[in-house]
Amino acid sequence: MVQRVAVVGAGVSGLAAIKCCLEEGLEPTCFERSEDIGGLWRYEDQAEEGRASIYRTVFTNSCKEMMCYSDFPFPDDHPNYMHNTRLQQYICKYAKHFDLLRHIRFKTLVIKVKKRPDFSVTGQWEVVTQRNGKEETAVFDAVTVCSGHHVYPNLPLDDFPGIQKFKGCYFHSREYKEPEKFRGKKVLVVGLGNSGSDIAVELSTVASQVYLSSRSGSWVMSRVWDNGYPWDMLVVTRFRTWLGNILPSMLSDWLYVRGMNRFFKHENFGLMPLNRTSRKEPVFNDDLPSRIACGVVVMKPNVKEFRETSVLFEDGTVQDDVDVVVFATGYSYSYPFMEDDSIIKSRDNQVTLYKGILPPHLEKPTMAVIGLVQSLGPIIPTADLQCRWAIKVFQGKNLKQPLSSSPLFPQRYGNSTTLQTDYVTYMDELASAIGVKPNVLKLLLTDPRLALEVFFGPCSPYQFRLRGPGKWSGARKAILTQWDRTLR
Ligand code: FAD
Repeated sequence: MVQRVAVVGAGVSGLAAIKCCLEEGLEPTCFERSEDIGGLWRYEDQAEEGRASIYRTVFTNSCKEMMCYSDFPFPDDHPNYMHNTRLQQYICKYAKHFDLLRHIRFKTLVIKVKKRPDFSVTGQWEVVTQRNGKEETAVFDAVTVCSGHHVYPNLPLDDFPGIQKFKGCYFHSREYKEPEKFRGKKVLVVGLGNSGSDIAVELSTVASQVYLSSRSGSWVMSRVWDNGYPWDMLVVTRFRTWLGNILPSMLSDWLYVRGMNRFFKHENFGLMPLNRTSRKEPVFNDDLPSRIACGVVVMKPNVKEFRETSVLFEDGTVQDDVDVVVFATGYSYSYPFMEDDSIIKSRDNQVTLYKGILPPHLEKPTMAVIGLVQSLGPIIPTADLQCRWAIKVFQGKNLKQPLSSSPLFPQRYGNSTTLQTDYVTYMDELASAIGVKPNVLKLLLTDPRLALEVFFGPCSPYQFRLRGPGKWSGARKAILTQWDRTLR
């Protein structure tokens, strides 16, 4: 019988895990290496070892109605997209409201998680922690890994011949905080992800010139969608997901590409993704197209070679006098506290998890990795539902789907090192397994107004609190008033 659960990390995923354990009558103990909650969203001027690090101007790219915990809407006066400090305030309010802090041991680093000798019978783990240099070992019935996936920089310098000769300065985007010290410099940003495009746009206000190099292009979306509404409230809907599933793939791909090109033609801006129909995570940046149009950001293909002061690109062009290179080349996953790394990572260093959560080869399903799945949807509600699902698995409750070891890698998301999936489909899969998926047909008969909003409106997190275990009495009202809060 699972009772004691260790939670590694007190970011948004760890807080969801603590709250879900409490909801189910379990005893969570959360270990957080830093001195406060929030994880990635708690900005500091210096990057801290082992914790994600963001730049000062990070704003969310999911709006408040889509990004909240499913039973804790943002206050009315919050803007739709938030600066990191506002999100951090919300995270603190959530922890206080549900009285989560007393389950967290701060400044406590998890240094080892290993199976107990009798694991195949008990499913128990030994967790070794370190606080003020003192080690402690405790036994837990289950472990939720919420240690984050934007911590360990991926800096593939071997892919960049000549970088050792380069006389300018170079660093990973994790080290970037603010633009001022790059005033008047010529900067090359490598990588067209969310961080790369944000940093390129921000630097273009002070640098003498910014080049943005991309290997394979990317769809660039605006936060502000039709009639000025948040993109995700219009795009992430059950209706669209249903349409995407029933339409022939050629038609659905055509509509997708057309939708992505609605504000500007990516081809004309040097941004066109090599794989046009791949649903891999787009970049959210409202300013990049205009910065390119103004010539302050210049798009470049992949780097072929670095020289002492210049850079040769694959199209044969050379840029002289480059002062700074920012490698916005993403992150790799690492679980340094796992005694046996292969529990989460397979031989080729990829992560393969059942439902994007459970390591598939454990004798007992008592470990969950939260927040690793990537979809065109926000992390907070995803982590929340993952935790609710995982805890039911820990408790050995009869899920409606059998636990098989099939991983989650739909073809249309292309080759990616992250577990990519469609948000609504994924959330519904988890929700139906634990009996919290909204029944639209039943609602149509009993509450047609709600049914229409659930089906045609945004697939907001409250939908997963309308019924079943963890039902929240405020869910119906939250759904019917979501547009009012957006307009406020
Ligand atoms: P984290 O926030 O990284 O928290 C992990 C915690 O675990 C940290 O507090 C860390 O100190 C602790 N920890 C780690 N190892 C140990 C250990 N061994 N022992 C004890 N404690 C440990 N997602 C969205 O949905 N919307 C967005 O708009 C969005 N914007 C983003 C912008 C940027 C620039 C980046 C990089 C990511 C963004 N994301 C966004 C994704 C982001 O990863 C999630 O929003 C979220 O912060 C992940 O939360 P987490 O709790 O899983 O991990």
